[in-house]
Amino acid sequence: MKIICIGRNYADHAKELGNQVPSEPVIFLKPDTALLRNNDPFFVPDFAEEFHYETELVVKINRLGKNISKQFAPRYYEEVGMGMDFTARDLQSKLKAKGLPWERAKAFDHSAGISKSFISKQSFKDIQNLNFKLLVNGEERQIGYTGDMLFKVDEIIAYVSKFFTLKIGDLIYTGTPAGVGRVNIGERFEVFLENQKMMDFLIK
Ligand code: MG
Repeated sequence: MKIICIGRNYADHAKELGNQVPSEPVIFLKPDTALLRNNDPFFVPDFAEEFHYETELVVKINRLGKNISKQFAPRYYEEVGMGMDFTARDLQSKLKAKGLPWERAKAFDHSAGISKSFISKQSFKDIQNLNFKLLVNGEERQIGYTGDMLFKVDEIIAYVSKFFTLKIGDLIYTGTPAGVGRVNIGERFEVFLENQKMMDFLIK
């Protein structure tokens, strides 16, 4: 399986990092070795100074497809979950400044936290009308609303599948809202999708 991530998909987050709002989706990939599952702790690596959290809605692909039209995109996913796109921000800034690829800052081992459970999209009226949030040590740190995505899930699937064949089990991280920040050893992270707790893990 592969992990496809969308960058700068919320205008307020693009701006907080000093980036322009994109006219096309910004895409990058993480390998399957990036997954961090089962609420396992995130051990802060030592190859950079500043690791950030990015709380994101994740769509699980359940059907093989290429060149999928936006109209038929809903046939390619049944469940959504939550994920954490961990980022070595200082390293990413250095790589961006040099025009180099981001992989070392974005695709390292355990950089893709994923919720244990996924929720059927049928349990929601509209997946573009969902609220999610991250609590750090019980305090609200990041709040997101899927209606604020610049590129909606179905548009993302159509766009991504022009370049990459989507396979069963692939995960699409749909981007983070504003409020990203540093992870610190000892913190407890809890992620909610609507009223359901999806993730609960420690930073070590
Ligand atoms: Mg992200």
